Amino acid sequence: MEHFDCVVIGGGMVGAASALSLAQLGLKVALVEQFAPKSFSLEQPLDLRVSAISLASQNLLKQLGAWQQVLNWRTSPYKRLGVWEHDSAYVEFNAEDIKQEHLGDIVENRLIQLALWQQIDITDNVHSFSPDSLISLTQEDGKANLTLTNTKITAKLVIGADGAQSKVRQMSGIGLTGWDYQQSAMLINVETSLAQQDITWQRFSPTGPVAFLPLPGKSSLGGYASLVWYHQRDEITRLSRLSNAQLGMEVLKHFPQQLGDIKVIDKGAFPLTRRHANSYQHKRVLLVGDAAHTINPMAGQGVNLGFKDVAALQHVIADAIAHGEAWHDEKVLARYEQKRRKDNLLMMSTMDGLYASFSHPSPVVKAFRNLALLAVNKVPFLNTTIKNKALEYACGL
Ligand SMILES: Cc1cc2nc3c(=O)[nH]c(=O)nc-3n(C[C@H](O)[C@H](O)[C@H](O)COP(=O)(O)OP(=O)(O)OC[C@H]3O[C@@H](n4cnc5c(N)ncnc54)[C@H](O)[C@@H]3O)c2cc1C
Repeated sequence: MEHFDCVVIGGGMVGAASALSLAQLGLKVALVEQFAPKSFSLEQPLDLRVSAISLASQNLLKQLGAWQQVLNWRTSPYKRLGVWEHDSAYVEFNAEDIKQEHLGDIVENRLIQLALWQQIDITDNVHSFSPDSLISLTQEDGKANLTLTNTKITAKLVIGADGAQSKVRQMSGIGLTGWDYQQSAMLINVETSLAQQDITWQRFSPTGPVAFLPLPGKSSLGGYASLVWYHQRDEITRLSRLSNAQLGMEVLKHFPQQLGDIKVIDKGAFPLTRRHANSYQHKRVLLVGDAAHTINPMAGQGVNLGFKDVAALQHVIADAIAHGEAWHDEKVLARYEQKRRKDNLLMMSTMDGLYASFSHPSPVVKAFRNLALLAVNKVPFLNTTIKNKALEYACGL
């Protein structure tokens, strides 16, 4: 039976980054993934699943040697972020305000995963088991025993990066708190009459926000974009059943004018759920990414939190190795949760606060939230301090 220092279950964006970051410390790592990602070529249409990758996440991906490959393939950087409900209370954040060239990039999830997998392929001390799947996990005498579909392995540390329905979490007996939001999100890839833009925007309304994320490339109409439409579940179900042409007409009716003309090319609906693992650790098992937390994607922070988990875990283990500690000691591993739990909770609560405030139907609450947005834009003190702090926080700086 082969023995590893660490086994990472789940080779999505966060799991692949975890495996590489632990290998960088000289540890012998196994990565187990049930579905290998489809390889990439430029002719392929844009994937539906995209993420706004913050500057902090880009720094981690650079350190792991994956970011340049993502840039070589395709991304859409954005410099501005527009937020409003009432037209007169439009707030715009600009990268220049925090002395950055841009605020982030919109990237297809699969490209990030593939760029990380390319690095894994050339890293001697990571062994990939894929396609393979976790069947059982037990812990005894300071080591973990894992049965995969095709083999059995043991490890000093197991990282659960197997997403929201994490088997690692369930098999370790770690409970969850969470709830389903009333809203679902529909992702809609469109051709736009406007060329690629340097802005991402979100207009709030009591039924849920609508958002625009620029995508790379030139289309017959002009450019491409990913639209996100949040609404009550029933309405999203109704919209999902429409043809692309019918959905396009609904989009033009409900999105703000700055969208321009569009043609729908792809669509998909996703339920929104908040989950937080009651603990990120059970002995020598740790949870990262969506296995530990899922949040409302309104501000595009889900995978960015996952990448912060990866950076924190690497830091904790590197520090232990540097100080001659047993890096796999449960007391050392506990430092990871100490570093991450509060930060994840703060972001989850901030998103819930925004969700509750902007979905409140009362005209009084609506007036207050628009006044607050107006104040952020017009009052100099708020403009330079709160606005820039919020922006730095969103960029992970
Ligand atoms: C509508 C929507 C929009 C979003 N937009 C953004 C955004 O703009 N920015 C952002 O930061 N985040 C965004 N997110 C969140 C982001 O998509 C997730 O946080 C991110 O994908 C989580 O990555 P992960 O690697 O933790 O999990 P996953 O992507 O779920 O990966 C888990 C992996 O584990 C594998 N796996 C599962 N079980 C097993 C098993 N038993 N054995 C082996 N392998 C297994 C799976 O095949 C998968 O590859 C959005 C989410 C939604 C729903």
